[in-house]
Amino acid sequence: MKSLVSEAAILRTGDLSRSFGGVHALRNVSLNVQHGELHGLIGPNGAGKSTLFHLISGHIPPSGGTVWFNGQDITSSSPHERALGGISIVFQGARIFSGMTVLENVMVGAHAQHSYGFHDAILRTRKFKHQEDAIRKRARVALHQVDLLPYAQSNAETLPLGGQRRMQVARSLCSDSRLLLLDEPASGLRGDERDVLARSISRLRELGKTIVLIEHDVRFVMQLCDNITVLDLGEVISTGTPAAVRSDRRVIDAYLGVGDQHAGG
Ligand code: ADP
Ligand code: MG
Repeated sequence: MKSLVSEAAILRTGDLSRSFGGVHALRNVSLNVQHGELHGLIGPNGAGKSTLFHLISGHIPPSGGTVWFNGQDITSSSPHERALGGISIVFQGARIFSGMTVLENVMVGAHAQHSYGFHDAILRTRKFKHQEDAIRKRARVALHQVDLLPYAQSNAETLPLGGQRRMQVARSLCSDSRLLLLDEPASGLRGDERDVLARSISRLRELGKTIVLIEHDVRFVMQLCDNITVLDLGEVISTGTPAAVRSDRRVIDAYLGVGDQHAGG
């Protein structure tokens, strides 16, 4: 049945499940992400957050359920088809390409859009050069959007961790995707680096990107996101605005309350 909510959704999952052997990593997950929103995905370690991203990006198949992108069933599309369609993922703990400049690292993000072949690249045909120029321009715009343009020609390895994470976001941007899946981009960052990253992410939303952000620092997510979905043991236990999620009894018991509230108390 169609509802107004699902009409506006850029991403929707229905009863999405995934088991690994006997482990139910995800069970009947229904996620709804609206066009242009910044959606937080939180939950304790092992809750199934990364698995959900891999099912959305197509890197692993579900055991059951459906993924819709812009109203289209993409459950059986390949990761490459989904990337071309506008879904971009920054994996948890994503590596930088060492020995390359910051600009080159970001240009890799546009790889999915290349239409020249190996032959063109070797012979450096006009088509190849034209596309390389266009990609370089897009990479520079992406770097500007995350405040890294002054470092375009630096060796990527010399960037501090916060800069490396923003570079990975720029790589996603360079692919011209409409939906960015960011898996713990803030993990391991200092407070000031988190603030800069948060500003970059907010700016992307202003540019009309839709973002789903996995993060375990609840305060960070609450301040930044329009809506939040909470996973626990592979199931959605709450979804809504930060205020609604924060006051949800199930969230307090299962997750937020750890340390100052006891389940069943
Ligand atoms: P989160 O990202 O929330 O920490 P994950 O999605 O990584 O959680 O993992 C959810 C559950 O699925 C965990 O119990 C994890 O051990 C299991 N799991 C994830 N990926 C695999 C895999 N490739 N093989 C086996 N088990 C996995
Ligand atoms: Mg994870």
